[in-house]
Amino acid sequence: MKRNTWQREAVRGALDANDGFVSAQALHSALHSTGSPIGLATVYRALADLADTGEADSLQSPEGESLYRACSTNDHHHHLICRNCGLTVEIEADAVETWAKDVAAKNGFTAAAHVVDVFGLCAACTAKAAASAE
Ligand SMILES: [Zn+2]
Ligand SMILES: [Zn+2]
Ligand SMILES: [Zn+2]
Repeated sequence: MKRNTWQREAVRGALDANDGFVSAQALHSALHSTGSPIGLATVYRALADLADTGEADSLQSPEGESLYRACSTNDHHHHLICRNCGLTVEIEADAVETWAKDVAAKNGFTAAAHVVDVFGLCAACTAKAAASAE
């Protein structure tokens, strides 16, 4: 069942306005700063719901935090994510697709799926880090 409550729409809107992956907490404080009375538990629920219906991508940060993003496509894709500013680039990874299929087949696995996301520092953050190190 699809619930289109105002809370869900508010969370969806905040996600759309954000370019990179964000945590429920970051999205909650963004909504609060615009005067929304939405609760953190509701934000968590709405994000899980959006991820379930494929309206948002979700992934785990290296620190184990769940992050969400409204991606431009529902098709299978991968991400490059800046661990400092959250900048996200959607990427295709043909080499990964081939490798995943081959390695699954070799081990007799069917219906194999995979999640591959690359975390690092974006060009701007790398330049900033280099500048402040001088
Ligand atoms: Zn995505
Ligand atoms: Zn960055
Ligand atoms: Zn893939």
